[in-house]
Amino acid sequence: MSMEPMDLRSDTLSRPDPAMLHAMANADHGDDRYGESTATTELEEHCAALFGKESGLFMPSATMSNQVALKVLATRGGDVLCEAGHHLDEFAAAAAADLAGVTVNAVTSADGFLRPEAAALPTTGLVWVENTITARGGRIHPLPLLTALKEWTGRRGIPVYLDGARIMHAVAATGVAPAAWGATSDAMALCFAKGLGAPFGSVLLGTADFIRVARRYRRWYGGALHRSGPAAAAALWALRHNSTRLAEDHANAALFAAMLAESPHVEVTRPDTNIVHVDVSRLHLSPAEFVVRAAEAGVRVLAGRRGEIRAVFGGGTSRRQAIRAAERLIAVAGRIGPARTLTLGGVPWWDRIGPSYPVTVSAQAQSRTWR
Ligand SMILES: *Cc1c(COP(=O)(O)O)cnc(C)c1O
Repeated sequence: MSMEPMDLRSDTLSRPDPAMLHAMANADHGDDRYGESTATTELEEHCAALFGKESGLFMPSATMSNQVALKVLATRGGDVLCEAGHHLDEFAAAAAADLAGVTVNAVTSADGFLRPEAAALPTTGLVWVENTITARGGRIHPLPLLTALKEWTGRRGIPVYLDGARIMHAVAATGVAPAAWGATSDAMALCFAKGLGAPFGSVLLGTADFIRVARRYRRWYGGALHRSGPAAAAALWALRHNSTRLAEDHANAALFAAMLAESPHVEVTRPDTNIVHVDVSRLHLSPAEFVVRAAEAGVRVLAGRRGEIRAVFGGGTSRRQAIRAAERLIAVAGRIGPARTLTLGGVPWWDRIGPSYPVTVSAQAQSRTWR
């Protein structure tokens, strides 16, 4: 077996292909601070139309989109209600406290789907959802639940923000159009640097008034770019050409998970999209130790905080590599794990690992193009 190393730590690790580089090379070099970057304006208008929002604003990162959104939507001294483990909670809560003067009120539900009727406080000034949910293995927050959430908050005058860094994965997996997801929030952002494969960038979307104020904070935070054309062109190219390809990443993730589910030494959760969580706690070693063994076997993965490791499938990983990675990790687990006989007898893994919540998967998902 060749030892070609495979990097499944994240879907931010692919390289731009020649067509994306070509789009970047042919982009304008107008100064966006004077509103003169045609590629940037085109990207903003394209995304706003796609998600049914009035306006868009190109941002250097989804992290900054989220912080700017907090600044515009949240009330200083109020709290932001979200599910525990969301990117905001795990990586950006200190920034939210310092920059926007809010506290993140994180609640944990069994399935990862926020239900505000059980958790909202009198001080709740903003409801925050994430889709897909990274810490839950790329789980799709189902549209009917988001619609119900929007109705609940709408009646109380509380805005809803959607951290849609990987929202195009939900689109690709369900076939539900971007605008339907967009309608469940007052404002939202997506990230172009994950599975979509652009070098960096995000777009913040909302009403024209929201974007007008967001533009001011983008400048405060140092996110107003000058000649942003090439970056915007890469993002637009990624959205137009890589959105349907995400379904291939989902298929690779599912195959990888199905193979690992045949190992008696690990527990695998059926992935909705491109992130696979493999629970290694049965092996009686920490996820960090498993990560070291996996790297020695030529597969780079990340340790999670709940006894699991994660493997993420993006544009840089082929089906053949997904299979090879699963084989290597099965071998690693087998070497560590106590010898036990397989009693699975060819039962399809889908029958053994039931979905824990309803997700509608459309047959059209793989054939639709979102342009
Ligand atoms: C990656 C990610 C972000 C941050 O995006 P960057 O562009 O890397 O700053 C925010 N939210 C979620 C859910 C993400 O997955």
